[in-house]
Amino acid sequence: MAVATDHVVRRDEIIWAFGPDLEPVLEVEPGSVVRFETNDCFTGQIASEDDLVTEIDFERVNSATGPVAVKGAEPGDSLVVELLEVRPSGQGFATLIPAFGQLIDQVQSPVTKVFRVEGDTVHMNDRVSFPLRPMIGVVGVATDGETVANGWAGRHGGNLDDHLHGPDAKLYFPVRQPGGMFAVGDMHASMGDGEICGTGVEIAGEVVARFDLLKGKQAAWPVTELPDRWVAHATAETDADFMEALQRVSEEAARLLVDEWGFTMEEAFVFLSVACDAGICQACRPSPFSTIARMAVPKVSATPRPFS
Ligand code: CA
Ligand code: CA
Repeated sequence: MAVATDHVVRRDEIIWAFGPDLEPVLEVEPGSVVRFETNDCFTGQIASEDDLVTEIDFERVNSATGPVAVKGAEPGDSLVVELLEVRPSGQGFATLIPAFGQLIDQVQSPVTKVFRVEGDTVHMNDRVSFPLRPMIGVVGVATDGETVANGWAGRHGGNLDDHLHGPDAKLYFPVRQPGGMFAVGDMHASMGDGEICGTGVEIAGEVVARFDLLKGKQAAWPVTELPDRWVAHATAETDADFMEALQRVSEEAARLLVDEWGFTMEEAFVFLSVACDAGICQACRPSPFSTIARMAVPKVSATPRPFS
């Protein structure tokens, strides 16, 4: 059943980078529901298996639809974005990109692979199908200074590529500029932890989101709330490895446990080890892109939400 929406942002209203001076295409009140039409990450440049990733314009990848300003969002707050729908179109693409990923020396490349989406199933070929797991890869807000192209992730979000960012996820973005300036794109019909070849099933679609504000609280990176857990993120720069992202996300999750839920640092360290799940969002190596780690904290009585 379609959700009633207050506004629509079309897929030609896009940005290619998150910076400090974004101009909104729409300004909404907290509580508003907005439908975003999103391009696939190649912005339609790949339409069949004959279209190779080496022949496209890399200036036109990972567009994000928006940005949308939310009235009353100020630096120091969190912009709360509840994903009500993440609905892919009927056809998507994965690619093997020369010099990208752990197995690239053992395969032919470039390769474009078409996937069909039918109902709740993604078809890779006549033999291999798997469950639809829709998610959004690029999702973020304005930065506090630098301009970050949408292929990269950072403290503003961006190409976080967390496959948990599907329907019913609630994302808390640290607001760095008035209005927050939210934009979203790069949907995947499915993507695994690590995204090791550098793409998920890249697909166009529609995202429906409800906006809200959490005043006076934020984390260093976006934090995600799911029905049964909440998830801290951290990113590491271009040539840093997974260990640095894991170090940062351990510190980020521990800080939330200490500051919001009264843990000592020793309790937080033990709790993260015995009850929480470290995970990889993206670790496609080699490639120029960020490494992103996450830490999932179960919702128990001592940790019911990311923020108290
Ligand atoms: Ca990606
Ligand atoms: Ca992608």
